[in-house]
Amino acid sequence: MNNRLYGNLIFELSHEGRRAYSLPENKFAGYEVPAGLRRKEDAMLPECDEMTVVRHYTNHSENNFGVNNGFYPLGSCTMKYNPAINEEVAAMPEFANLHPLQPADTCQGALEAYDGLQRALSEISGLAKFTLNPFAGAHGELTGLMVIRSYHERRGDTKRTKVIVPDSAHGTNPASAAVCGLDVVEVKSTPEGIVDVEDLRSLLDDSVAAMMMTNPNTLGLFEREIPEIAELVHGCGALMYYDGANLNPMLGVCRPGDMGFDVMHINLHKTFSTPHGGGGPGAGPVGVRKGLEELLPGESEISVGPYHGNFAVLLRAYAYILTLGREHIKEVGPLATLNANYIKESLKDAYELPIDTTCMHEFVFDGLKDKSTGVTTMDVAKRLLDYGYHAPTIYFPLLFHESMMVEPTENESKDTIDGFIDVMHRIANEAKSIPEAVKDAPHNTPIGRVDDVLAAKHPVLTYRQLAAGE
Ligand SMILES: *Cc1c(COP(=O)(O)O)cnc(C)c1O
Repeated sequence: MNNRLYGNLIFELSHEGRRAYSLPENKFAGYEVPAGLRRKEDAMLPECDEMTVVRHYTNHSENNFGVNNGFYPLGSCTMKYNPAINEEVAAMPEFANLHPLQPADTCQGALEAYDGLQRALSEISGLAKFTLNPFAGAHGELTGLMVIRSYHERRGDTKRTKVIVPDSAHGTNPASAAVCGLDVVEVKSTPEGIVDVEDLRSLLDDSVAAMMMTNPNTLGLFEREIPEIAELVHGCGALMYYDGANLNPMLGVCRPGDMGFDVMHINLHKTFSTPHGGGGPGAGPVGVRKGLEELLPGESEISVGPYHGNFAVLLRAYAYILTLGREHIKEVGPLATLNANYIKESLKDAYELPIDTTCMHEFVFDGLKDKSTGVTTMDVAKRLLDYGYHAPTIYFPLLFHESMMVEPTENESKDTIDGFIDVMHRIANEAKSIPEAVKDAPHNTPIGRVDDVLAAKHPVLTYRQLAAGE
């Protein structure tokens, strides 16, 4: 590690006059930038030789843990295998070099792919039409709620201001409703972790615009009462919204459109494999049932994004769907479900399983079963890094104190999954025999434990170059 330039910013490695490039002669020298727009001083750019640049970025990239490095069971995020063919398709110059304002007759191939994806999503979800505009799940929620709001407005029904959201919902649900100018009303979960129909009944009246449901919900459970819920919600004139961010376990098993949902979004970057993280890139297409098509952006006054959405993400999703094909896409749901249940059953002797039922593609532990060791979910997550595994999602959902949400996806082999189960057991044993080793983890990563609270309260988001002699 010492002879590496690890930990430095490229600016700190800069030496005046060093170069890693040679530019061709400037053929456009005659086209001067207008004087008023020109820099007064040179831009502050790092000056480095080629080997320094290559090593700097290579060493940094090796400190990242990605799904291509190892098992990545981050629940509610679906970090799945991203086939290289997706990247090849997305990088094809015929797609990558398109201009958003190019005349339609010069990009028929791209429009065909766009149309093909819309149709595939309709078939997968059982809904009539999709817009591919939204850039993320949350953006899809907002779009879908705008569709619902205009549905009511067009009918002259202006008193519907409430959106019912389960207490287990992803935080984006209430946030999207609020951004859309609607009031959020929370519906309780039963002790089993699904929507409490009796509580819902008491909340329904003619001021409700929509009910948002996530299925499987954020606990990884199938919402069993959907037909009854849909009947109640439709009975009071409201619409049913499906948060389909995590559609994995549904693929090939059932379709939201057949369950009575009117509007839904799908996270292409989760279910249909696009490398994502740190907030992007994503795509959250929104589908509607028959009769609502003309309310979608592009067909109505609703405008949610420029051009054709996050096109490279759309292409990756379409490539993934076509690679699996009609036949194999049906295996995704059952395999994702089998893998999650296998891990849950194999580890519930050592980890607390608050809701002990069959799960879908993910499930939640509430920390270690043996609470006397003082070893927390955070400690287990950090110790996993020492063994070369990414941690599950921790401290979400908020329903439990020591949540640990595990999602293996359908892509992993039994060997990989068994390796994870083995390490999780090993950590549970260490928690009893050598708890300090777990509490002080990680030991093998370039950086130990960071101070989360300090980082959140005093984030350092800019870099200040030291003046000479400072
Ligand atoms: C990830 C997720 C979202 C939000 O999706 P983004 O693309 O991150 O905006 C919404 N709902 C659920 C259930 C999710 O898992």
